[in-house]
Amino acid sequence: MTRRGNSRNEKQAPGGPLSEQDAIRIMSGLASAFYVLDENSDFIYMNEKAARLLGQEGKDLEGRNAWTEFPDAVPAGLKEMYDRIRETGIAETKEIYYRPAGLWLQVDAQEIGEGRIAVLFHDISRYKEAETRLELLAYRDNLTGLPNRSSAIQRITESIGKGKPFSVVLFDIDSFRQLNDLHGHQAGDRYIRGIAERLKGILEDGEVVTRIGADEFIFLTRRTDPDELKQWVQELFRQTAISVRLYDHVSFSASASVGISRYPEDATTTAELLSMADHAMHESKTKRGNCFQLFHDQMRKRLDRRRVIEDDLFSGNFKENGFACVFQPQLDGESGRLLGIETLSRWDHPELGVLPPSEFIPIAEETGKIKELTIHLLNLVLEKGQRWDMQYGRVPRMAVNVTSSLLNDKQFFSTIMKMLGKWEIPPDRFEIEITEWKETLSSNLVLSNLRKCRSQGISVAIDDFGTGFSGLSYLTNFPVDKIKIDRFFVSGIGRVGKSEAILKSVVSLAEGLGCELIAEGVETGEQRRFLLDIGCRGIQGYYFDAPLPPGEFEEKYLRS
Ligand code: C2E
Ligand code: CA
Ligand code: CA
Repeated sequence: MTRRGNSRNEKQAPGGPLSEQDAIRIMSGLASAFYVLDENSDFIYMNEKAARLLGQEGKDLEGRNAWTEFPDAVPAGLKEMYDRIRETGIAETKEIYYRPAGLWLQVDAQEIGEGRIAVLFHDISRYKEAETRLELLAYRDNLTGLPNRSSAIQRITESIGKGKPFSVVLFDIDSFRQLNDLHGHQAGDRYIRGIAERLKGILEDGEVVTRIGADEFIFLTRRTDPDELKQWVQELFRQTAISVRLYDHVSFSASASVGISRYPEDATTTAELLSMADHAMHESKTKRGNCFQLFHDQMRKRLDRRRVIEDDLFSGNFKENGFACVFQPQLDGESGRLLGIETLSRWDHPELGVLPPSEFIPIAEETGKIKELTIHLLNLVLEKGQRWDMQYGRVPRMAVNVTSSLLNDKQFFSTIMKMLGKWEIPPDRFEIEITEWKETLSSNLVLSNLRKCRSQGISVAIDDFGTGFSGLSYLTNFPVDKIKIDRFFVSGIGRVGKSEAILKSVVSLAEGLGCELIAEGVETGEQRRFLLDIGCRGIQGYYFDAPLPPGEFEEKYLRS
């Protein structure tokens, strides 16, 4: 039996080792460009492909010196590379841009004895172009050509690595949204391009500007002295104040807000420097236009406090962390009969003390923890309801505050119904309070959630009525059972004629809509009297009771 290996060996048997001539014959047929230099870098051989790429077709280069024939290859680094290879004997690969041919070449070179160098090279221009385009996409902003957000992050990190002081200057154009709304996105783009040119124009050595959002730019500068920064920022403001032409007869100019964080004074990490500049910027946004703000210690304290709150919200141990609820009665101002209770959350924080809901509810909303927190509170409230029902044979109607994100949750209705079922609370003993937000009132999901709730007997109340959404047309098709007049109007009783006039008109509005009415924040007998006189009997406020801990509420309103 003949083995395969043997038959191959037999076929190869007539040939000896490859001669130089053989090797060169093979190389000349290669798809790759190829040449060989002698120890003086004179050409021994060049194949057709190489001659074509280098624009030397038909020329005889044999015996000619590489660096005289191709002087541009020297600054591209090839001479240095071949000399090194002759010295070390180690093969090398290099990507070069060969200017005369306008090509990117990958050059593989090795020593083949006696100082001769064999060189294979490929045209990698297409690959290089794609790479630069990708790099542009990844690190450049398409609209302005400025470095983008990723690049800003990379540069801040690099600057931290160098260890020298610098400032992160966050520059945000005011009223850019209005420009877009008013003149369209094309005009907005034109404006941003115009501003980007101006901002680039004021850069000095070592400074960079990057575009990190629609109308947000970040500058990196070595200036850290507050007075120097102040002057520099004034120049930024002067540039943005000059109007940019959008169309033939339309120009636009804007003010801007600037927030600054400094390395290493304020922070030593990229994320912190960015977040601090952002906080400082938001503080300057609250003032009139063209303001600038350095990050300061009070901001740090606020941030630290917020971080503690966020961490505890994330831990999810609501009970151990001191979350509780209180109940404020809603009464008939004439008879004193209990109409219902509003549930308000309280947080006796182990470290920070008692936190007002106005501080932690927005943080819970922003961090997406509001759902868990509300479910925790609902369990507390409904459990009380179940016990009161067993003990006293009655459950007051219990209202809870819900935020727009909860109402925009597909599971909202089913979750509420499940919880009412679990604690055996009839839906008509339950109420949800929502505030007048444009987004809340115009979302289809919210409307459908509220309609389903009402179809089961759950009552829907509009909270803080008169302070939010400007326009009453939504009331014509909005599912609402109750209006809660904001305490701003109540506090005007006896002092502000206009508040009284508004209160009167809300009473007739509620009558016309067939809605229940509750006045919030009623603190004095005079306010109660006025409200009763104009026909508003529902009263909630310190005049009767502040929000009470569950035990106190039970003692005062249910046991008696
Ligand atoms: P709100 O829904 O308008 O609640 C009424 C607020 O007015 C409560 O403040 C209450 O303590 C206060 N108040 C009641 N009677 C009087 C009075 O006669 N005079 C004055 N000056 N104030 C009175 P609180 O408890 O600090 O709650 C503030 C806000 O936080 C609430 O306003 C509500 O929007 C929100 N909130 C509270 N608990 C929750 C909750 O569990 N979930 C949600 N989403 N929001 C909540
Ligand atoms: Ca409320
Ligand atoms: Ca309210």
